[in-house]
Amino acid sequence: MFRVNDNFLKLSAGYLFPEIARRVAAFTEANPAVAGRIIRCGIGDVTEPLPRAAIDAMRNAVDELAQRETFRGYPPPTGYDFVRAAIAEGDLRARGCDIADDEVFLSDGSKPDASAILEILGQGNRVAITDPVYPVYADTNVMAGNSGVALEGGGYEGFVYLPCTAANGFSPALPTERVDVVHLCSPNNPTGTVLDRETLTRWVSAARSNGWLIMFDAAYEAFIRDDSIPHSIYEIEGARECAIEFRSFSKVGGFTGVRAGYTVIPKSLLGATSDGSRVALHGLWLRRWATCSNGVSWPVQCAVAALYSHEGRMQTRALTDFYLANAALLADACERLGLRTVGARNSPYVWTACPAGLSSWETFDLLLREAQVVTTPGAGFGRCGEGFIRISAFNSRANAEEVARRLTVLASVSAR
Ligand SMILES: *Cc1c(COP(=O)(O)O)cnc(C)c1O
Repeated sequence: MFRVNDNFLKLSAGYLFPEIARRVAAFTEANPAVAGRIIRCGIGDVTEPLPRAAIDAMRNAVDELAQRETFRGYPPPTGYDFVRAAIAEGDLRARGCDIADDEVFLSDGSKPDASAILEILGQGNRVAITDPVYPVYADTNVMAGNSGVALEGGGYEGFVYLPCTAANGFSPALPTERVDVVHLCSPNNPTGTVLDRETLTRWVSAARSNGWLIMFDAAYEAFIRDDSIPHSIYEIEGARECAIEFRSFSKVGGFTGVRAGYTVIPKSLLGATSDGSRVALHGLWLRRWATCSNGVSWPVQCAVAALYSHEGRMQTRALTDFYLANAALLADACERLGLRTVGARNSPYVWTACPAGLSSWETFDLLLREAQVVTTPGAGFGRCGEGFIRISAFNSRANAEEVARRLTVLASVSAR
């Protein structure tokens, strides 16, 4: 009999977003009269249309595909040179990062890359993830066999959890036990907090002396407004020897449905083989792409390049400014209620404490029942997320303003 990948069976059943969807569906069925009032600030999906520059580039690219003279077939698997150059120059070298065009690998998004990258790493790496965490890092490592079983109360055996709490300002301490791979995300999903230059320098230096690989997820870098915060880990000296960076066009350009992202692997990043010699990850990733993918479609690659044009930059800036203004509205509303709140300044997420005495699922249920606002309970991102909810700023202005008003239902609970 053929075998399945038993690691999939270790995944804990109650995945966060399906559970949220189940509760919202149950509420809607029981309360059809107010179902139309529901405002979703749960899943981090964008709401606003694509930047004009991306639309025009895609239209033009489709027209090219319609003509024999300009038709294009298979693209290079890691992206057309002009797209990789626009990215390397616009996002990295412009910020002083020493990254060559061919160290940028264009893809159909960051979530697929975060999972595929495990194919070029060996079995048995000890993986460190933050708590709370973007669930993809945990689940992909479970599927790849890098964990033990799911633990009672959340988490998995075998991972090293790095708590991010109010006490440490939501910035994880360096691991003190043996680890091989560390997942970091800044600006963070779910907490909306950022890692500053000094902190990232400590991580890079520790990674180099201990042989860790840092998997740096910078999906939200376009929301950074504080000039002192690094946008890329390669702004830190030495990161070329210890870090992979993941970027996505989903949040900066509203590409959640268009699908594009990229991964940076410097050629100087070496890993150990089973016989103890060293090999460059760059070559392995190149081979993996050439073998397993035929790349990203022509219209999408043109849309990506268009985001780096002058108009494209102005439009993505306006788009991220728009969501940041929503985030500020929501964070102000939480603060006015006396709830300890972080995020929102360099991030589209607001991470706010639950009213005293309520768990994160209780707060979620209360907001759904009394305000018809869907949030994400912090406990869904890990044990240390208990006592918080995440509110997403990806919404229309009218909805963000309405949510800010409706959040006052939390005041009555705090007062009780
Ligand atoms: C949204 C998000 C991404 C982007 O994933 P895509 O597959 O590119 O849409 C990556 N990392 C984090 C933490 C995210 O929240």
